[in-house]
Amino acid sequence: MAQSDVLVVGAGPAGLSAATELAKRGVSVTVLDREDQAGGIPRHCNHPPYGLREFHRLMRGPAYAARLVDEALAAGVTIRTRTTVVALHPGGTLDITSPQGLETLTARVVLLATGVRETSRAARLIGGEKPGGVMSTGALQGIVHLNGQRPFQRPVILGTELVAFSALLTCRHAGITPVAMIEPATRITAYSPAAMLAGVLGVPILRGTAIDAIHGRTRVEGVRLNRPEGPEEMATDGVIVSGGFRPDAALLRASHLEVDPGSGGPVIDAWGRLSDPSYFAAGNLLRGVETAGWCWAEGRRVARAIAASLQGRLPAPTAARLRLTSDALRLAVPQMLPIDTPPDSGAATRLQLRLNRPAKGRLRLMQEGQCLLTRRIESLPERRITLPLPALRSTSDITLTLEER
Ligand SMILES: Cc1cc2nc3c(=O)[nH]c(=O)nc-3n(C[C@H](O)[C@H](O)[C@H](O)COP(=O)(O)OP(=O)(O)OC[C@H]3O[C@@H](n4cnc5c(N)ncnc54)[C@H](O)[C@@H]3O)c2cc1C
Repeated sequence: MAQSDVLVVGAGPAGLSAATELAKRGVSVTVLDREDQAGGIPRHCNHPPYGLREFHRLMRGPAYAARLVDEALAAGVTIRTRTTVVALHPGGTLDITSPQGLETLTARVVLLATGVRETSRAARLIGGEKPGGVMSTGALQGIVHLNGQRPFQRPVILGTELVAFSALLTCRHAGITPVAMIEPATRITAYSPAAMLAGVLGVPILRGTAIDAIHGRTRVEGVRLNRPEGPEEMATDGVIVSGGFRPDAALLRASHLEVDPGSGGPVIDAWGRLSDPSYFAAGNLLRGVETAGWCWAEGRRVARAIAASLQGRLPAPTAARLRLTSDALRLAVPQMLPIDTPPDSGAATRLQLRLNRPAKGRLRLMQEGQCLLTRRIESLPERRITLPLPALRSTSDITLTLEER
């Protein structure tokens, strides 16, 4: 039974902005989220900067999330919280579980906007004991901002992506004093001004350093560091394992939909359409973490594509496949590129790239032996790189190569 034209899975910035845009266009939309409240990650991030692109003002995460929810409700969107989608079936059919029990819902289109997860301690293969006090930034922010608790006093923060500096701010808010930030690479991953925040707060950043083992019986008591000058023990009562964001794609992997091994998210075309054209995707699920404003804008654009699809205005899903031919290239989104894009159809105009490791050189986008586009880059992993989507000659494969020098 079709309850809404469109079902959106995930009430973060991408899902809510898409739902609002669709509702404003007269499409009936229901948003499903497993949490008690809608709003996504920003609900836990009680710090700026949120809202500049969307509302032209500097906001903290919870106020920003509340505004997104208010706008969606005002536009006529139905939001169902405490509702977890547990399976995706062909043709836009979902199995859900909620306080009402198990249900099956069907819509003409399903938008997936389930965001990202941080890479866990287990996935990073950190040895030692398994005491309490080891957590992701997201878990820390939930404990501090939603539960009002202080899980430790003097933790270490592993990682230096932007989110690690968000963890620093959360610690400061809760009266927690981190002992150090630990970065395995020789440079920090966030843009270098972020390091000034650590300096101002008196937290040293130990570059070229890994955490080999975590010690402690019930609570963390220390960590063994592998430093350039040799092993070192450090006393600490907690470990914040930050960043290493990967798409929250458990649902996708268990489904009939095609997953990109590079991004870990769905394979999409320029409209955000998946291998089953009744499914679309937007937000961090596509590639890993971006700013909330980026995800919000992506949600709005994909909503225009969904509206065009419901009106039968999108071209059939035939497209050229993009292949990455250099080991430094981790992902490129969209993976299927269009030959022709009808006006106001919500097609992406740029290709988003990420690297596996620091690299510099010349990118070349090739089709049928012709160079469509070339660009010099120098970047670190997890940094945003974009290229204009080139005009294609045919649906034959396109290759993207990085010639390093
Ligand atoms: C610690 C931290 C600090 C950050 N600070 C900033 C900042 O200061 N400024 C900024 O611009 N950005 C910041 N970001 C990034 C920003 O918050 C995210 O990019 C943005 O929230 C992503 O939006 P999204 O809609 O893609 O996903 P999310 O906000 O992650 O929302 C996804 C939603 O999907 C739901 N969901 C997942 N699976 C299911 C399922 N199976 N069934 C039902 N619901 C499901 C989740 O409950 C969640 O509500 C921060 C991120 C983190 C982690």
